[in-house]
Formats: sequence, C-alpha cells, structure tokens
Amino acid sequence: MQVLKFGGSSVANAENINKVIELVRQALSKDRTILIVSAMGGITDMLIQAAQSAAAGDESYKEKLQQIEHRHLEAVRALLPLTGQSSVLSAVKTRCNEIEDICSGIFLLGELSPRTQDKIVSYGELLSSLIISARFDSLGVPNTWKDSRQLIRTDSRYGHATVDFVRTNAQILQYSLDNPSVSLFILPGFIAANDNNITTTLGRGGSDYTAAIVAAALDANPLEIWTDVSGMMTADPRLVSNPRLIPNISYQEAMELSHFGAKVIYPPTIQPVMKKGIPVWIKNTFNPTDPGTVIEFETLHNGGGSIRGISSIPGIALLSLEGSGMVGIPGFSKRLFEALSSQQINVILITQGSSEHSICVGIDESNAAAAKIAVDNAFGPEISTGTVEPLIIETGLSIIALVGDHMKSHPGVSGKLFGALGRNGVNVRAIAQGSSERNISAVIAAADVRKAINVLHEEFFETSYKQLNLFITGAGNVGRRLIAQLLQQRSYLQEHLRIQIRVIGLANSRKMIFNNEGVDLRNWQEQLDKGQPMKLDQWIAGITSRNLRNTVVADVTANADVASCYAALLQKSISVVACNKIACSSVYGNYRQLKDLAREFNARFLFETNVGAGLPVIGTLNDLLRSGDKVRRIQAVLSGTLNFVFNNYDGKRSFSEVVRQAQDEGYTEPDPRLDLSGTDVMRKIMILARESGEKTEMEDIGNNSFMPESCMQGSVDDFYKAMSKEEAHFKALFQAAEKEGKKLKFVAQFDNGKASVGLRHIGPEHDLYHLYGKDNVVLFYTDRYSEQPLVVKGAGAGAEVTASGVFADVLRVINS
Ligand code: ADP
Ligand code: ASP
Ligand code: MG
Repeated sequence: MQVLKFGGSSVANAENINKVIELVRQALSKDRTILIVSAMGGITDMLIQAAQSAAAGDESYKEKLQQIEHRHLEAVRALLPLTGQSSVLSAVKTRCNEIEDICSGIFLLGELSPRTQDKIVSYGELLSSLIISARFDSLGVPNTWKDSRQLIRTDSRYGHATVDFVRTNAQILQYSLDNPSVSLFILPGFIAANDNNITTTLGRGGSDYTAAIVAAALDANPLEIWTDVSGMMTADPRLVSNPRLIPNISYQEAMELSHFGAKVIYPPTIQPVMKKGIPVWIKNTFNPTDPGTVIEFETLHNGGGSIRGISSIPGIALLSLEGSGMVGIPGFSKRLFEALSSQQINVILITQGSSEHSICVGIDESNAAAAKIAVDNAFGPEISTGTVEPLIIETGLSIIALVGDHMKSHPGVSGKLFGALGRNGVNVRAIAQGSSERNISAVIAAADVRKAINVLHEEFFETSYKQLNLFITGAGNVGRRLIAQLLQQRSYLQEHLRIQIRVIGLANSRKMIFNNEGVDLRNWQEQLDKGQPMKLDQWIAGITSRNLRNTVVADVTANADVASCYAALLQKSISVVACNKIACSSVYGNYRQLKDLAREFNARFLFETNVGAGLPVIGTLNDLLRSGDKVRRIQAVLSGTLNFVFNNYDGKRSFSEVVRQAQDEGYTEPDPRLDLSGTDVMRKIMILARESGEKTEMEDIGNNSFMPESCMQGSVDDFYKAMSKEEAHFKALFQAAEKEGKKLKFVAQFDNGKASVGLRHIGPEHDLYHLYGKDNVVLFYTDRYSEQPLVVKGAGAGAEVTASGVFADVLRVINS
C-alpha cells in the first residue's frame, strides 16, 4: 500500500490533473494506492476571501463564488467526455449552491465563525477529489472515492484541528481503506470531522497531514508528497536564487525546517510517519523524473557542513516582559505563558537571560494585541507597583532558523551565523538555540529577511562562490576603465576566486541606472544614456533600499557631494571604496567619523587610490602598523604632475610650456595650480600621516611652495600668462639644483609626527632621484626598515592604474 498526495498546484487545472492521473496510473502498476488531493490551487484562499467578504457585508463575495464555480466547471468540461459530464457538472453545481447558501447566511448574520469557515473551505478538497475521481472513471480506472470526514476524527480546534485519537483513527482507516479488492482510493485532503461529525480542517497545508495520518494508520510505504518543486531545498526558492536540493533529510530536520517556514511540507505531517518509520518522498509533479528528497531516520550529510537548511517565518511579534521584581522569584514565566495560553496564543520562540530581568517570547504578529491585554492584566498588581513594566511589543519582525542534526558536533556554527549577519548590517533582536542543537533561530527585522537568508545561504552552502553587489558612482575616465576591467576579469574571478561581481547600479553626473540582476557591462553606456536623471539622494536611496548583501559603493568621482554621503552608506553596513580624495582629506573629525562608522557597522572604508593611484601605499602602511612595526619617517614623491614637469624642465623650454604639455597629456587636475601649489601632495601626505595615527589637519602641514604668488590668482589662462612672466624664477630654481649635480623634486615628508611638502635638491645617491614619467615613490623608514627604507615605486597616476586600485579595494572588501 502506498499513499500519494498531490498539492494545490498539481491539481490546479485540467492539464495538471492529467499529469497527476498519469503519475498515479504508473504508481498503480506497482501497488495499491491511496490518493490524497488538495483543493485546486488558490481555491482555499478564494473560499476564505468570499466568506470574509460576506461577513463584512460586501456583496462581492458572489463574484468570487462565481469564479470558483467557473474554475471547477471548466475543469470538468476539459477532463470528461460530453456524455459523462452532466452528472459531474450537476454535482459541482449543487455543491457550489451549498457554498452560496452558507455565504448568504454569513452575509445576513454579518458573522463568520471558525466552524463555519471550516465548512466553507472543505468544499475545495471535496470538489477537486470528486472531479479527479470522475476523470479516473472516464478512463476506465476503477477507484473508490471516500469522504475523509468519515475516516478521520479530530478535536474541535476549527481551522487547525489535530488528530488526538490515533488508535481510533487507525482502526477506522484500516477498516475503511484496507480493502484488497480496491486498488485505488481517492480522498480529499485537509478535511476531517470532530466527534459530533462537524467538519474541521487540519490547518493550511493540511493535506500533507491527512496523507501522513492515512499512511501511518495503514503502515503504507512509501508516502509520496507531490508538489511544484523538486524536493526540499536548502532555502525557500522564492527567496534564494540558487537553492540546492536536499537529497535526504532526517525526520527531525524536516520537522524543524518546516516549523520554521519551509512551506513545502506542513509541520505536523512528520510526527505520524516518523513513529512508523515510513519514508516520505517529496517529488515534483512537473519534473517527475527528478530524484526528489527522501525524509527518513539518520541520513548522510552532503554539502553545507553541519547545516541542512535555512528557513524563515514572517509576521513575528516580540514580547518582552521586564522588571526588577522578576529577579530570583519563581513563577513569572509560568504566569506569562498561562496568560498567553488562555488566549490560545502559540509561543514560537523563547529567550531569557540569566539575569532573569526579562523574558522575551516570539509570537504570531496577529496575536500581539490580545497578548498585550492578557499579559498586562495578569501582571496588573506588579505593573501598578512598578516592579514589572507593561508588556513591550515589537512587530515587523521575522524569525530565521538554521537547521541541522549535526550542529552540536560542529563548533563555530553560531559564530559564522552572527558574523555573516553582522557584516551585512542585519541586526539580531533575539536568539534561541534549543539544547538539542538542531536549530539556531534569530529574530530580525522583516525587511532584512531576504538579505539574511541569502547571506547565510552563501555562507553555509555556497562556500565556493560569493556574490558582491557593486554600485559605481562616476563613469568618467576611471569609471569606464573600472567597468572594462570588471568585464575582462569576470570569468577569472568566478573560476579562480569564486567571486561574482554584479554591478547593480551605475551613475554619472547626468544619469543613473539600476538593475537588480546586474547591468550588462557590454553596453553599459547605451543603457546609462537612457537612464533616469541622476539625483544624488535618489541614487543613495536606491542603494540603501535594495538592502543587498555584500554591497560595495565605488566612488570614482572627485565630487564633494558624493563624498558627503559615505556616512549614510557605512551606517547601513555598506562598504565604500573611494578614489575620491575629498572625504579623507577633509577635516580630521570627518575622516575619523567615517573610519569609526566603518568599524561600528562592520563595513569597509577603503581609499588606497587616494595616494599613488594603484600603488599599494596605504595597504603597505597598514600592514606595517598592524604587524607591530613603528613608522619613523615617510618620504615620498607623490605628484605625477610635478614629477613630469621637473623631469622635463631643463631651462631650455619655458616652464609654462612644460606645464601646458603636462596638462595636455592629462597628468594634471583641470586647474593645474592644485598640483603645482603642492595642495594635492599635502592632501596625500596628510592621509598617510592620519593612517599612521596622527591627528593632522591641512594647516598643520608645512608647505615650502615654489610658485610665485602672482601665478596663483585669476583664471587658468591668467595662470599661464603669469607663469611666462616668471620664467626667470623657475630657471633660477633649476640652475641652483643643476649646479650641485642634483635634480628638483617636490618631496612630501612625514617625520616625527610632522608632515611637510616642498621643493628639494635631490642627488643621484638618493632613492628619490631616479623617477621617470609619472612615477611616484614612497619610502617607509620604520623600526624594521631602519637602514634601507621599504620602497613602493611605480606609476602613480593615470586612469588605468587608478581603476585597478579601486578594483583591488573592491576585492579586498569581499575577502575581509
Ligand atoms: P503544495 O500546494 O503542493 O502543497 P506548497 O505551496 O504548500 O505546495 O509548498 C511548495 C512550495 O514551498 C514551493 O513552491 C516553494 O515555493 C515553497 N518552499 C518554501 N521553502 C521551501 C524549501 N526549503 N524547499 C522547497 N520548497 C520550499
Ligand atoms: N487546500 C489547503 C490549503 O491551501 C490544504 C492543502 O493544500 O494542503 O491550505
Ligand atoms: Mg502544501
């Protein structure tokens, strides 16, 4: 004897029902079969809506009922030959009229009791099972339809009745169904009756439970639950994009997963079959050859380490009972739970700290108001004397749960869980872990559920593959190269580093675009041109509201407004990678705040390209300091522009011509005075000083500027004119150095806590002497590198290397 149960989507229409019939026929060739069916998909909901509308005095219930009737009549017409239709059509119509009669009663009374609602929804399963039975008849497959209400006795908890007379039930079921002359019984799932023969239902999703009760009573083997997914998945496929099939799972794990929201199986289903050790198969009606999941006793673990799956329950309210009067006094929890149970409120999660100062329980949000009244009443005397506070209720929460039998023998699971949530800014409100250690649950904001489940899924099941969600602000010289590099490295990153970077948003100063699946980088320019107008606040809101895991925002602009948004991002645990120097070179307080926010909210704030473009300058400095070295002195040539200018100026061509060439070749800032005045170099050495732990501001940095005052006024044109007039000054500078056999270098220095910049004569013996093109060089003199400095040298400007530095920072975020 085998029991096959088909869910709502499997019997949603004539086409699907035909698939079911085919599968059952194949099964019949193996063994006698009991077929349990759900209502046609969506019908239970529609029946409930119709009844509720009627109770609210809303006549639209009639339309709903018509739709319900229409769907069933349509299925009958499609499934049965004309000659066989009329009796079934009239049976369907008769039942639909009964529903209509009950609803008009509800409408007149303006009242819908749970008992009446059960009566109404029972028609869903009655109708579907009758139609399916008729279809078998029409195909000449003998079958016997049975009314489950005569076979399964429940208590009277309408809406979610339970079967409490297992023995009696087993006897009735055996007596009625263990009949060797019938090879196919067909039963409506979900519905049953109490001792007084009043219709009850077994709770939403309860057809699974019907099937388990029947299988257990008859010692059937196996029980097959046929649905619209190919088995139990490691997480809800509607929430996670690449869930994995769980090939086998223990009864206990399946029970935990389903209790915590894995809707694929109704939780009470497991108990009866576990008692009898009946294996349960979850199979896909629409892909019947897929292997599916088998639920049985102990199972082998494959993938995911000690974790079998992740699930979530929405609509949770957290109740906190707090007060000094509770400490050390027994009986408080008992009274709290009594107050809740007096209102039939089911407690889903409990936590109590050892201080006993507060007890916290999670319940269904819909019960929150009733809980408040009941608990505040129960603790009325203590509340009035102030020893206990009125019950605190928080709503808008969900529970997420990690489930696995073998968690207890694997330390570190909770560390990994909370670490991953923390890194992604998911705030945990309450935690529970049963001593069975089969489940760790955490209460989090409902808005964070999708992100949290994806983060955890990645952490526990996709260790080989991480996804990074990138938003790029700026699509100029650096931005477009960054995009080109991302595109070029895509397959390398996937194959070798197991990282997938998706550009979810892209903006320049005029336009912005978002694409949750990732912008196609092959034609980003066209897409961006057609994007919506760039509004910075909307751009930032677009990033934060998406609430995606592993989010990084790359700022490849030089814009102060963009830099002013970092704090808002870091506070949402979104990492920021900037080649924009403005934030780090603004007042110290701002720089410090951003670093602190990054630490507080577990995000990264990285700006390697602020100094020396792609050269690993800040990273090297950080590594030295972290490993316990002390920086004594930093000497550096940090301006590609100044380097270019002094490498090319030989007193023959005019200084202003050389500067013009530097500008034409793209080395300089749009206003070259920012480079020539040394301001840009000051910013860079200030950032290095700050990273070394010094609280430095721009005005603390000495600048021995070589630019005559006359050059620094007016427009860029005025600047070039003034420079021509000052040629003698520049020539004198050059010759003074040449006379000593030295070169002019604009050197930044950080020594003994003091930073300064200025023009120097550098001889051929010095590490700063041999610099070509746009090279930068940084010399770190430290305790460990005391005689010869640690030298970082190479191209220190240019879009390509800057983009690669930004890219490296982005990868640093995910590897941290
Ligand atoms: P049926 O109508 O066949 O009883 P349900 O809708 O009750 O089907 O359950 C199947 C659905 O459960 C799937 O379509 C899927 O969206 C959802 N689901 C939630 N969590 C999981 C999970 N961990 N594994 C598989 N399915 C899940
Ligand atoms: N039809 C019922 C429901 O939708 C029971 C079931 O499908 O299992 O909840
Ligand atoms: Mg179901």
